[in-house]
Amino acid sequence: MTPAASSRAAARLLILCALSLGAQMRDPLPVPDVSGFRTLKGDFHIHTVFSDGEVWPVTRVEEAWRQGLDAIALSDHVNVHPHEPDVSADLRRPYEVARASAERLGIILIQGVEIAEGNLHCNALFVSDPNAFEGLGLQAALRKARNQDAFVFWNHPGWKQAPRWFPLIASAYEEKLINGMELVNGLTFYSEAYPWIEEKKLTILANSDVHAPIAFEYHDPRTRPITLVFARTADAGGVREALLARRTAAWMGGEVWGAEEFLNGFWERSIEPGKANFRFTRGTRSATLQIRNRFAIPYLLHVAKTVSWLAVGAGEIPAEGVAAVSLALLKDAPEGMHSVELEFEVTNLHVAPRRNLTVRLPITVEITE
Ligand SMILES: [Zn+2]
Ligand SMILES: [Zn+2]
Repeated sequence: MTPAASSRAAARLLILCALSLGAQMRDPLPVPDVSGFRTLKGDFHIHTVFSDGEVWPVTRVEEAWRQGLDAIALSDHVNVHPHEPDVSADLRRPYEVARASAERLGIILIQGVEIAEGNLHCNALFVSDPNAFEGLGLQAALRKARNQDAFVFWNHPGWKQAPRWFPLIASAYEEKLINGMELVNGLTFYSEAYPWIEEKKLTILANSDVHAPIAFEYHDPRTRPITLVFARTADAGGVREALLARRTAAWMGGEVWGAEEFLNGFWERSIEPGKANFRFTRGTRSATLQIRNRFAIPYLLHVAKTVSWLAVGAGEIPAEGVAAVSLALLKDAPEGMHSVELEFEVTNLHVAPRRNLTVRLPITVEITE
């Protein structure tokens, strides 16, 4: 190669590199691993043009990648094929079409299907043949799903009607055909259904049920509902095992619903309190406690307990940000060295109906003349 040709080649290479680097960005959406598990971010209720969605399956994988997800299930409706003049009604196709791009981008892709009777809908994940459910009522479809070794959850329990433990759901549950429930579907949280998670030992899910391009339904991508999965391995088998073992939490719009163990683990791993030793004198009666949050889940703090002579400010520790908590001595503050345990209620992290996570921050306070 002549020097001129080689410099032309180098220039071409530079242009290629620039093109490939500038192409797409993934929001890392960092969430800590907890309790020895990998925390995977999933959306297990997604539609494509193969039923009444408006988006090609490959685009769903790219949306998930850009928005920081690790796992998605394509779950098109049985018996709903408005695009049939243009698109096949074969429900194996969404998974087959999306598989190569999922592999390329490292997204765990799960074959799912949405089965229904009236307003009662369920998603079956990990099905081997999504076409086998055509024309079946819910109970028959759920039995078929069990025969295919599927993981099944009840979708949007309050869709078009107030949530109730409907007879059809009850009998499917009695037959052990339902494993989980969407506590969150889209931007809706079903508070009436929340007690059933513990009562019936259901797996918690939060899914988008997206039909349009994701950016049309969630202008702020970080408000998208996500099922947090605490998995042993970052693959489809790991997701399946965690779903069956009820190791999940629901996350939507800055709020999280899940077991205390996992939510407390988030707090423990996310928070770095700055200087925790404070000296007050007659002239200095106030101080600032800085708290850094390394991850994408914010914490809304309400002061639950302090000592009578110390006023503590509260507020939000933003996602991947730093909060300044104000401390102020009150009149009767005693001189000397004190160990104080501040206790906060985290009002956006819910461990049970009407019960939020409680966290503690130890500080020392020295008061001199
Ligand atoms: Zn539905
Ligand atoms: Zn749906």
